[in-house]
Amino acid sequence: MKAALYEGKKQIRIVDIPKPAPQKGEVLVKVKYAGICGSDLEFYKTGLWPAPCVLGHEITGTIAEIGSEVKRWKIGDRVTIFPGLPCGKCFYCQRGNTNLCDGSFEGIGIGRNGGFEEFLVVPVQCLISLPDVIPFKHGTVFDQIGTGLCALREVNFVAGNSAVVFGLGTIGQFMLQCLKIAGASSIVVVDKNPYRLEIAKKFDPDYALKKLFLTKIKRANKRGASGADFVFECSGAPVLVNAALDVVCKGGTIVQIGLWDKPVEINLLKYVINQNRIQGIISCIRQDYEFAIDLVARKLIDPDPIVTKIIPLDDIVEEGFECGIDPEIKDIKILVEP
Ligand SMILES: [Zn+2]
Ligand SMILES: [Zn+2]
Repeated sequence: MKAALYEGKKQIRIVDIPKPAPQKGEVLVKVKYAGICGSDLEFYKTGLWPAPCVLGHEITGTIAEIGSEVKRWKIGDRVTIFPGLPCGKCFYCQRGNTNLCDGSFEGIGIGRNGGFEEFLVVPVQCLISLPDVIPFKHGTVFDQIGTGLCALREVNFVAGNSAVVFGLGTIGQFMLQCLKIAGASSIVVVDKNPYRLEIAKKFDPDYALKKLFLTKIKRANKRGASGADFVFECSGAPVLVNAALDVVCKGGTIVQIGLWDKPVEINLLKYVINQNRIQGIISCIRQDYEFAIDLVARKLIDPDPIVTKIIPLDDIVEEGFECGIDPEIKDIKILVEP
């Protein structure tokens, strides 16, 4: 079968490898689509992740073979894959924070082979049924929606709070949609990429800005020039981290979802004087993922404008990864169809 093998910095090659066989408690999934994530792009750009392996942790497909002792599932079932493999035993898992698990550093497409190949073996604990009302091309986005839901939950966002979103990649776009259904009183989104701004406008933010118009952003909530209750920083651009400090209200919270590849200088004195909080968010737990499926099934969240391109596995380097790391990119979520 065909697989896209990641072999280090800027090295991904289409290879022919044997089709794996599911063992006890595992199934073989025929991949329909696998989304290219920002972290996959980061691994490609930097070579940060140990090679060789097959990347891709945003996966949907059908069950093709069943291993021994697998009960609930049958061949042909439509599934989406929760990529995390929390140990279930450590302090954090016991507390329900499985995204902070201390015992397992692996997941599907993160350590174990992922979705940029025709078939992959998955333990049954990662399988979640994909409802018939959700087309396959919307079957890979639930961890990105789930991250937005996890953020809202962790910071106790309530209806009537005001929000700013920096960065309109997949996470930022879904953050906007999550804030809409959570009852945000005002939402400002900022991104310098005009294509991404146009897509965000479909979801009716109060302002979609290509530049940091600080006064406009601070006044968007119409409560005086006090700033927003929450700033969701989804870009990872160092300049926006400090801009977040400028537009959050006193006592407000900055939610850091974007990742940095090096340490960033932050004006901590401002935090102290303004009594701000900063909350990091990493991925989501299975309940967030399942809630995301439910929201898409009920058409309360629409992934359609976010999934902008589907490419064959053979084109994964040029049309997928090279395209994905281009700052002028016109796409948001690129799916690979092996
Ligand atoms: Zn991801
Ligand atoms: Zn654990």
